[in-house]
Amino acid sequence: MLVPSDCIFCRIVARQIPSQIVLADDVLTAFRDASPQAPTHVLVVPNRHVASLHDLGDQALAGRLLLAASEVAKQEGLERAGYRVVANHGPDAGQSVGHLHLHVLGGRVMRWPPG
Ligand code: AMP
Repeated sequence: MLVPSDCIFCRIVARQIPSQIVLADDVLTAFRDASPQAPTHVLVVPNRHVASLHDLGDQALAGRLLLAASEVAKQEGLERAGYRVVANHGPDAGQSVGHLHLHVLGGRVMRWPPG
C-alpha cells in the first residue's frame, strides 16, 4: 500500500508502524492515542489521507467516522458515564498531526470549556 511516507497516521493505517487498534474496516481505523489524556483516549481516522476536517467534504465518510466514534465509546463501556469527541483543526486548536482524527475521550470527568 502506497502512503504519504511523512504521515504517521497513514503509516498506522497501513500497519507500517505499531499501534493498538481497537476498530478497523475498509474506510476507517481507530487506535489508542500514544499520549492518552484520559483513561480512554482513542483516535478515529479515515483510512485515506484527509488533512483535516476542512478537507473532508465527504458526507458519507463524515457519518462513518462519527458513528465509529460512538461505537468505540460503546466498546470501551463509556455509554452511560459519558465521553467527549473532539476534532482539532489548525494551530489555535492545537492540531499536531495533519491527518483528520476524532479524539474519543472518556473514563474521567471533563471540564467545560476546554483549555
Ligand atoms: P491533535 O493534537 O489533535 O493533532 O492530536 C494528535 C494526537 O495524535 C495526539 O493526541 C498524539 O498523542 C497522538 N499521536 C501522535 N503520534 C501517535 C502515534 N504514533 N500513535 C498514537 N497516537 C499518536
